[in-house]
Amino acid sequence: MCDICGSYPCLPGCPNNEPPEIYRCDRCGESIVAGDKFIEEPDGDIVCECCLDNMTMNDLLEELGISLQTAEVDIW
Ligand SMILES: [Zn+2]
Ligand SMILES: [Zn+2]
Repeated sequence: MCDICGSYPCLPGCPNNEPPEIYRCDRCGESIVAGDKFIEEPDGDIVCECCLDNMTMNDLLEELGISLQTAEVDIW
């Protein structure tokens, strides 16, 4: 019998019933479990696929430390 919910098998919503968390998204705090997709940013932050989906390209580039540049003509 489960220590947390007192049932076997576990009740829905019992933490023991959830797949083990491997990482946690630094944006939304959601668990990332086996099979989930995520990225690791250069600063070590973990971002889940769901948050990536909600990001604009600019957000994503910024998170990755890349800035969009504007092409300018060199005037000498
Ligand atoms: Zn349980
Ligand atoms: Zn997330």
